[in-house]
Amino acid sequence: MSSNAIRSVILFTVIAIAVVLTVVGFIRGFNLELLLAWIASSAAAAVAIYFFVPSITEDELELDVAMKKLGGGEPPDKLRLVAIGELADLKHSFNEMTKQVGDRLRSLERENGKLELMMDNVADAIFVVNRYSEITMVNNTALRMFNLEPSVVGRTFIDAVRDHEFDALVKTCLASGSRQHGSIEIRPDRRFFEVTVTPPKNEPGAVVVARDLTEIKRLERVRRDFVANISHELRTPLASLKLLAETLRGGAIDDPAVAADFLNRIEVETDKLTQMVRELGELSRIESGEAPLSKKPMDLGSFINKVAERMRPQSDRAELALSVEVAPGLRPVPADADRIEQVLVNLLHNAIKFTSPGGRIIVSANPKNGNAVEIAVKDTGMGISAEDLPRIFERFYKADKARGGGGTGLGLAIAKHIVKAHGGDIRAESVPGQGSTFYFTLPR
Ligand code: ADP
Repeated sequence: MSSNAIRSVILFTVIAIAVVLTVVGFIRGFNLELLLAWIASSAAAAVAIYFFVPSITEDELELDVAMKKLGGGEPPDKLRLVAIGELADLKHSFNEMTKQVGDRLRSLERENGKLELMMDNVADAIFVVNRYSEITMVNNTALRMFNLEPSVVGRTFIDAVRDHEFDALVKTCLASGSRQHGSIEIRPDRRFFEVTVTPPKNEPGAVVVARDLTEIKRLERVRRDFVANISHELRTPLASLKLLAETLRGGAIDDPAVAADFLNRIEVETDKLTQMVRELGELSRIESGEAPLSKKPMDLGSFINKVAERMRPQSDRAELALSVEVAPGLRPVPADADRIEQVLVNLLHNAIKFTSPGGRIIVSANPKNGNAVEIAVKDTGMGISAEDLPRIFERFYKADKARGGGGTGLGLAIAKHIVKAHGGDIRAESVPGQGSTFYFTLPR
């Protein structure tokens, strides 16, 4: 029943009692003062009830609204304290509770904010999944690492990550309730992850943390190969030197012609070792910034022609056609001419070394993106396999077919560091059997 209806019923009842009493009084002959006192007290009761009844129902209504808000997780407005008696106490306690709930909610929001900030700033990918393996939370790192959209929340883990080995760890954790740990390689792009799946303390589900180890693994492999390669590079000339020395001692020293030949070969091997040690030292100096660049505006047209002329006798000897194509009107670029010459000579050396007689080599220079110049060395040589291509700028890296072919495997590593020190980039494209093109940029 609404508050107005209650009010009307009570008022009507009080007035009816007053009227009945008045009529009865008149009939029975009561005196006028007594009747007036009855009517006055009835009226007072009616007025009191009139104000008391609505105050109960409106208070109830206010409490009802406040509780619903609270139930919905929203701190309600403070209750007006117009009620009296127990209801006033109830409102007071409710206001206290509301204040505490409000404080808790605000502190929870602050904590949540911190948690989100932390989740989004860790280098690991984090997924939270429910008992059905549906993602309920994901951090930005995970979105980036697995190329996902924020709408991935709600989808199943396998649907998002698409790797069965990875998904199996999550499923085992959900089924057993125990922590799972594993190293996973995701193909086809061969990315390595260290994964930990932990069940949360008080609810079903799992927290998945994945660390991308791809770069670390790559660096490990580079380091391993570096050690293997440097020992190989040292072992080969050292073994030759030892053999030559032993043969000389074994009698070859008495044959002047053979002895002279052996001494020549000893000199060649020592030169190789010396060059390798020099290049290694140079590489580490460039890398550590100990070899500062002396940059001056460089006219690329005349510079490239000069270097090409220097290399022409070698390319002629290898029966290769060497040509230069420089875009007209190239503006000078600031560069350390000696260093850039070292880069260009190295690229030309390789082009000559890895191209069969009759082939062509073209050195070109063109503007790039309006703020750089791109220099390219293109050959029609043996090319580089897709497997070797990403690794040729590593120190000592040689494609298998180039093994034993004289070079130290340091030339491109040095070239890369020189170009980087100039703020440029170096890259290679190649089609095995058809040729390679090496590009490097110099910013203006
Ligand atoms: P090096 O030439 O002394 O072996 P580099 O660092 O200059 O060392 O080159 C590394 C490797 O890259 C070479 O051993 C070769 O396998 C490959 N390479 C470089 N340039 C070319 C090219 N123009 N054509 C084919 N292979 C190349």
